[in-house]
Amino acid sequence: MQIQDVELVISAVAPQQYPNDNLPEIALTGRSNVGKSSLINRLIQRKKMARTSSTPGKTQTLNFYRLNRQFYFVDVPGYGYAKVSKKARAKFGEMIETYLEERQQLQGVISLIDVRHQPTEDDLSMYRFLKYYGLPVLIVATKADKVSKGKWQQRAAQLKKALQLNQTDDLVIFSSMTGSGADQIWQWLQAHITT
Ligand code: GDP
Repeated sequence: MQIQDVELVISAVAPQQYPNDNLPEIALTGRSNVGKSSLINRLIQRKKMARTSSTPGKTQTLNFYRLNRQFYFVDVPGYGYAKVSKKARAKFGEMIETYLEERQQLQGVISLIDVRHQPTEDDLSMYRFLKYYGLPVLIVATKADKVSKGKWQQRAAQLKKALQLNQTDDLVIFSSMTGSGADQIWQWLQAHITT
């Protein structure tokens, strides 16, 4: 997909601030530092639209990026950062949970995990949480350039097994450095966004 137009419409801290133009939304979730900002920047072909984090866990807003005036990427704050107190993050944070549970416009979630590691407890909880609410999920295993290509299929199989990935969900091995996997992500988006 060619992205002609990107606008960060709002960095919201409360539902009253969410956009009200009723466009479809795709949320992006993942542990802090997993490579979410880099993925967004790669997909929208902008170098620094989404802020890559030098201080992980700091951004506690839902960032709504409107693409081609057709749909939104909703950048959800990274979870699992130890320095964010337990109280501040409930589980993933009340704002995140409420958004994922209740947002009518939400049509699917891209959930990021690091290709090199087994999913963390938080990664597993997030996937279960998303499935509990019936959301279509694409798992994106990030930083693929850090693992040799010959190992990708093995890693994909291990990660699917660890997550107990539903048959209706998919997993893509992705690198924001090389762009590998980006086409598959766009294909998934095109199949899951209905306007
Ligand atoms: P976020 O906290 O999830 O938004 O993560 P960032 O996008 O800020 O990335 C965290 C760190 O991982 C940064 O140092 C990035 O340069 C690095 N990174 C992100 N994606 C990749 C990737 O595909 N390959 C490599 N080698 N490094 C990456």
